[in-house]
Amino acid sequence: MCGIVGYIGTEDARGIILNGLKRLEYRGYDSAGITLFNGDDDTFHVYKDKGRVAHLEEITDFSYRSVLGIGHTRWATHGVPNQINSHPQSSDSGRFFVVHNGVIDNYKELITSHLNESVFASDTDTEVIAHLIEKFSYRMSVSEAIRKTMSLLEGSYALAIIDTYNPYKLYACKNKSPLVIGVGDNGVVVASDVMACVGYSDKFVPLEDKTFVEIDGATYRIMDIIGKVVPHVEKPIDVDYFNIEKGEYSHFMLKEINEQPAVLRNIIGAYFDGDEVLLNGEIQQAIRDSDRLYIVAAGTSMNAGQIGRELFEKMAGIPTEVHIASEFAYNLPLLSKNPLFIFISQSGETADLRAVLVNIKAKGYRSLTITNVKTSTLAREADHFVEILAGPEIAVASTKAYTAQIAILAILAYGLSDKHINLRKELSKVAISMENIIDKRDYIDKLVKDYLTKRNCFYIGRGIDYYGCLESSLKLKEISYIQTEGFAAGELKHGTIALIEQDTPVIAIISQRAIAKNTRSNLNEVKSRGAKTLVIATRGVHEPDDQIVVDDVYELFSPMLTVVPAQFIAYYAALHRGYDIDKPRNLAKSVTVE
Ligand code: GLU
Repeated sequence: MCGIVGYIGTEDARGIILNGLKRLEYRGYDSAGITLFNGDDDTFHVYKDKGRVAHLEEITDFSYRSVLGIGHTRWATHGVPNQINSHPQSSDSGRFFVVHNGVIDNYKELITSHLNESVFASDTDTEVIAHLIEKFSYRMSVSEAIRKTMSLLEGSYALAIIDTYNPYKLYACKNKSPLVIGVGDNGVVVASDVMACVGYSDKFVPLEDKTFVEIDGATYRIMDIIGKVVPHVEKPIDVDYFNIEKGEYSHFMLKEINEQPAVLRNIIGAYFDGDEVLLNGEIQQAIRDSDRLYIVAAGTSMNAGQIGRELFEKMAGIPTEVHIASEFAYNLPLLSKNPLFIFISQSGETADLRAVLVNIKAKGYRSLTITNVKTSTLAREADHFVEILAGPEIAVASTKAYTAQIAILAILAYGLSDKHINLRKELSKVAISMENIIDKRDYIDKLVKDYLTKRNCFYIGRGIDYYGCLESSLKLKEISYIQTEGFAAGELKHGTIALIEQDTPVIAIISQRAIAKNTRSNLNEVKSRGAKTLVIATRGVHEPDDQIVVDDVYELFSPMLTVVPAQFIAYYAALHRGYDIDKPRNLAKSVTVE
């Protein structure tokens, strides 16, 4: 959620910041803004408004040279999205400009205790930060004033700060919200994500919580809250620039759906030596040593986690529970003696998961993060991490990360199974079968036109297909705004079937031999009540009238396959409705607030 990009150096700050903000657009936002220093006449300028970065670009003056600036995409938490509430926010006199990602829990108390005299222009919690820094700067250095402010803030923040009295410095700090600095030959970038630094910096430093950095273009100093220098390591940036471009595709989502076979092959290449799984022995040991796995996740990653539970229990015989992170964080269930926590997060920055990680670490429990971003907070802070190697996923609706997460969970479970299948071969089969579905995407497009004509829709399935339905329905609702529920097929008749009307679309996923007949009966129940039904089935259990038939694969892996037509269904439903597919309303890719 929200993106921060700041730059100080000798290159074009405006270009770097605007481009960086575009690359962070996938995170979700409602307003955008920038403060730039005009190096020609030593003045500062602010451009900000509700709306997209493209609009910000239109209102930004390009006529002068700029070598310092901070930019922001805002996902409103305090105050409606409008011009005044957009960031940068400024201090009382306008001396300081601040961009902020996060939520300050005690901003009201801080106004009462420190800023009684202040007049606030916006409704944001952020403005309080700018006012505090200015207030403290009257009696201490700017570095001290910012750190003093940090010491008072409760909540989450990543901040980039400009002092208009000193255009040769850029300041940043963070707690809980992500922030990195990108280091290049000609300047330093501050950003919420390494992605914004690619092309301008060759190394980066992820900042730790409660650290502060003072940058003067050529050098930077990272300090803790009392000003003690914090040791750090610069890591190479190895993201390929072309991976974050759309290329020939009209949308990132379409590109990412199509990339799934390649991602799977990439995973096979990295995690196998011949037919043997290549995994850090400590991770296998950690799983073996635990008496119960607790998968903690949110959204699509939680849907992948549900499949993970099936894999761990059915392939490896390890009891596994799946929990919604935001529930688990503040309502710990009774735990087993020797739990291992598995965090699944595409971005590795999900605040709800981080809250759980902090909590269980304090209790001395072990943890493993499964993520797409090896430099992320959750990867760094867990005892172990496994990378899903899906490559940058830009579309807000997750596709390739979901199937990659399941593949990784299968690899983890397989290591502890009796190895009754050849995992490498089975995963390769899935990759080929995904290609067969991708080839049929125009046909799926036609089906969508015929079937998804209503404002609501149901996905039904049983067993592992039910979990596939949860993900398939999430995809459809998040980008097409069709109200969609994923339902356990047999449960429908216990209440929800009341919603079935003439032509209500009901999509069934059927891939498991043992329960295929039962799902078919449930399908008939809704058909007799007027539903317009569509079936996604695997070849072995399909019937002649089924509309989408996918190849047979190892049964527990079928969700990796049956989800692909569902991803296309969501994509085309949104496309026909004219919605912003890669950036659906109200959503953020990286959910960095709790
Ligand atoms: N809480 C701040 C606001 O509402 C920052 C939100 C964000 O992270 O974008 O302005």
